[in-house]
Amino acid sequence: MKIILLGAPGVGKGTIAKELVIKYGIPQVSTGDLFRENIQKGTDLGKKAKAYMEKGELVPDDVTVSMLRERISRQDCRKGFILDGFPRTIPQAEALEELTAIDNVINLECPDEIIVMRLSNRRTCSKCGAIYNLVTIPPKEPGKCDKCGGKLVQREDDKEEAIRNRLEVYRKQTSPLVEYYDRKGLLVSIDAARNPDEILVEVVGELGESDAVEEIRSEPDQ
Ligand SMILES: [Zn+2]
Repeated sequence: MKIILLGAPGVGKGTIAKELVIKYGIPQVSTGDLFRENIQKGTDLGKKAKAYMEKGELVPDDVTVSMLRERISRQDCRKGFILDGFPRTIPQAEALEELTAIDNVINLECPDEIIVMRLSNRRTCSKCGAIYNLVTIPPKEPGKCDKCGGKLVQREDDKEEAIRNRLEVYRKQTSPLVEYYDRKGLLVSIDAARNPDEILVEVVGELGESDAVEEIRSEPDQ
């Protein structure tokens, strides 16, 4: 099962991805992890990527696609994978298509207002970095960290204007992709303005049950 996961920041994509990894026994493959791993291991591709990143430039698609080709050829991907953070553009989607056939594109949809509400309620401990949410995980004492007593602050990233900017960038970047996969009949749109359990039930309903889970789970990680 080869899945692409699309979703704006704050939509809960990370949580859903983790659950799908467990449910289907397939790995989550993110470009961030690919870059980190290749740079850490000092591969040729990693060295190339690092040079661009140090200049503050985007890593060219051919480098990213080569990393991806190597990653999905590994044993743990033979039953599929969940792609996170790639593709972001139509040329990347076309390059991916030459690499492998994707089965489903899950698009987690959530109105901006709800995302803004979720993220703008986030507070971070200025001392230990613990994360709270004024609505869902409030501290026992207002403004104070449960763990260390540090002062809770709102990060610049979590302020409404910053969130709205990020959402706008995301929508601009992703809407052509959503149309692209919709035309190909691969797009599954899921209402993500709910709690993660409900979202997961619907995603699994769309993807179907997996019979390969037990087999894969019994194998050691490479
Ligand atoms: Zn703290």
